[in-house]
Amino acid sequence: MKKHNFFAGPSILPDYTVEETAKAIQDFNGTGISLMCMSHRDKSFDAVMNQAVALFKEVLDIPSGYSVIFLGGGASLQFCMVPYNLLNKKAFYVNTGTWASKAAKEAKLFGEVDDHISSKEANFTYVPKGFEIPTDADYMHITTNNTIYGTEQLVDYTSPIPVVADMSSDIFSRPLDVSKYGLIYGGAQKNLSCAGVTFVIVKDDILGKVDRQIPTMLNYKTHIEKNSMFNTPPCVSVFSAVKTLEWIKQNGGVKEMEKRAIAKSTKLYDEIDRNRLFKGTAQVDSRSRMNVCFVMNDEYKDLEQKFIDFTKERDMVGLKGHRSVGGFRASLYNALPEASVDALVQAMKDFEKQN
Ligand SMILES: *Cc1c(COP(=O)(O)O)cnc(C)c1O
Repeated sequence: MKKHNFFAGPSILPDYTVEETAKAIQDFNGTGISLMCMSHRDKSFDAVMNQAVALFKEVLDIPSGYSVIFLGGGASLQFCMVPYNLLNKKAFYVNTGTWASKAAKEAKLFGEVDDHISSKEANFTYVPKGFEIPTDADYMHITTNNTIYGTEQLVDYTSPIPVVADMSSDIFSRPLDVSKYGLIYGGAQKNLSCAGVTFVIVKDDILGKVDRQIPTMLNYKTHIEKNSMFNTPPCVSVFSAVKTLEWIKQNGGVKEMEKRAIAKSTKLYDEIDRNRLFKGTAQVDSRSRMNVCFVMNDEYKDLEQKFIDFTKERDMVGLKGHRSVGGFRASLYNALPEASVDALVQAMKDFEKQN
């Protein structure tokens, strides 16, 4: 029996990705060798890496002048790698949540960080809008989707300085104007692949401008020059990413992913707003399409665990909110079928009747 998988990450992937990866783990492309046991220096794996880069460029319509690389270390290592490679004197960080704060903390090891634009005072329930971007910073860092607080920045900023974006949890959920970014990164385990690989899309001409020496493994140029194979890449995760990108293409690309994300999230937010037991936590104009965060209304707070148990009985998993915020979080990544949202909405209606 299949579960309705609302986990925030690692999280649901298309059946196609899981099945094709399982096959390749048994026998990689008819080579008679498991993908897990195949040398990354073999031509057959080279093809996978090239495909991953080509599909990223195609699906996101990445213009020329950008490189796509696949690294280890998770999005969290990018919190340090970004300033190592880009921060000479000062950087501007928009603080929209836990991950954004962690990114700014690392940057402070490398130079001055202006992080006064923040929604912290309102418990990160919105994404700040209408602020001025300082022109004297080396770059501006944003977190487009705040996985823990359920807020999302859905518009690409027009900025006088390079925009660096952590898109770990909303990449491939809408068309992007990549030309407006200097660098985009993210861990794969939210909307792309199994854990292990981190993608980085970087505009080549923003590199090479800092005065410090950069350790070889932490230098983006190392990985660009070696097509992400300076050292052993996370082969299985890269392969799975290729499969998810094929699936996105077969299903109408990021435009269609956006349509589905709007349909699914609207359905769920409508029910949260209608249902007398629940309320959303994010401000309406900042609501995330990927991570829908909600709580019980104050007078029903003691029903929280009961509702979690109720959804579990109906084969739903992963609805508990992040341990730092509590309540509920339904993650509606690309691979989550609309039927899972329907099941959750029905559970909310039935639970309301019983309570
Ligand atoms: C999950 C997440 C991270 C952390 O990713 P790791 O790959 O575990 O380091 C960073 N940023 C955002 C927005 C996330 O959702």
